Amino acid sequence: MSKRYDIVIIGSGVIGSSIAYHLSESQQEEVLVIDKGFPLSGTSGSTQAWVWVHSKAPASYGELSMFSAELYPILEKKIGDVEYKRTGGISPFFSESEREKALMLAEKQATVGIPIEVLSQEEVLSREPALSPNIVGATYSPIDGNVNPFRLVELFIRAAKKNNVEFSFYTSVTSILKKNGLFEIETEKGGKYTAKKIIFAGGPWMKELASLIDIKVPVKQVRGQILITEPLTNLIKHTIAGMRQADNGEVLIGYSLEEVGYDRRTTLDIIQNTAQMAIDYIPSLANANIVRAFSGIRVIPEDELPIIGEIPNVENAYISVMHSGITLSPIIGTLMAELLLHGDTSIDLQQYSLSRFDK
Ligand SMILES: Cc1cc2nc3c(=O)[nH]c(=O)nc-3n(C[C@H](O)[C@H](O)[C@H](O)COP(=O)(O)OP(=O)(O)OC[C@H]3O[C@@H](n4cnc5c(N)ncnc54)[C@H](O)[C@@H]3O)c2cc1C
Repeated sequence: MSKRYDIVIIGSGVIGSSIAYHLSESQQEEVLVIDKGFPLSGTSGSTQAWVWVHSKAPASYGELSMFSAELYPILEKKIGDVEYKRTGGISPFFSESEREKALMLAEKQATVGIPIEVLSQEEVLSREPALSPNIVGATYSPIDGNVNPFRLVELFIRAAKKNNVEFSFYTSVTSILKKNGLFEIETEKGGKYTAKKIIFAGGPWMKELASLIDIKVPVKQVRGQILITEPLTNLIKHTIAGMRQADNGEVLIGYSLEEVGYDRRTTLDIIQNTAQMAIDYIPSLANANIVRAFSGIRVIPEDELPIIGEIPNVENAYISVMHSGITLSPIIGTLMAELLLHGDTSIDLQQYSLSRFDK
């Protein structure tokens, strides 16, 4: 006998958990979330966790990110303290030729209301004195910040459970069939579930997951390696493109991009490059001890924009997969709940539909 749900979500990273929580607010549907690991075993547990808006292009994607950042303070009132800090974001540049690009970015983002200033060297250093005097300028936006991803996912799940969402961890989904309008879901452990609606939130495993219903999802897996320093006293105030300082004083550094499949090893060459980048930005980091390095696998759609919404030609099947899922999780959860509960969304998702890749 299979247990029956209104909605089954596959994946309990930040995206699946946010959708589960936002769906549960209405307490209308019986919802189950299935994850082959534990909630932070995928990308959401191996991330920088900036809530980053200012350089997101095109501007419409920047706007979506800005709306999501705006939801964070409200979200914290509902689910609790996720250590969201609107620190402001600084993206430094090292040559005068980049100032023109920075001014263009500021002009484009202003069309959707994202505030960006292009700072002189003096202005950058007065805002963030630890930065290198080799920096010639930076873009700055007050809207950027960061969050604790561990607390975020944990509190999404805790709030969803409180609203009666069920979770099944260490349970890999191995087969999905559609019969008489219902999805029949089977797991490696032999569990069987039926659902009226199904949501794919499988992060970097999305290709394999979607192949269970013969759907192609054009995403790539891109490794990022991060270094963590010993706790340092008040080194940086802002989220800086490349690094942030956590509440406990540790600085998380790194923005490497490698297409190596799902391989979460760290490598000496990237660790060395990342350490050099850190010192180029903040010379005093040369004296800091690195206590840990980790890597995570980004899931990045081929055109780098999120894929959100209905899966074409499979009625009642939905998808949510994207890079920047930490930034976007509040708005994605909100919009997906609207779509599943009311059949429509307050922001048009057409530009993010899976069907755009058919063209
Ligand atoms: C190094 C690095 C830095 C990043 N920095 C930022 C940043 O600063 N800001 C930002 O916004 N984003 C950042 N990101 C991206 C962000 O972390 C991701 O977009 C986000 O975590 C994706 O969440 P997710 O829920 O889609 O995926 P995941 O957290 O990977 O969750 C997917 C879940 O699906 C489950 N699953 C998959 N297949 C199955 C199956 N068959 N059966 C059951 N369960 C299954 C997995 O176990 C997993 O738990 C970064 C990523 C990396 C790697």
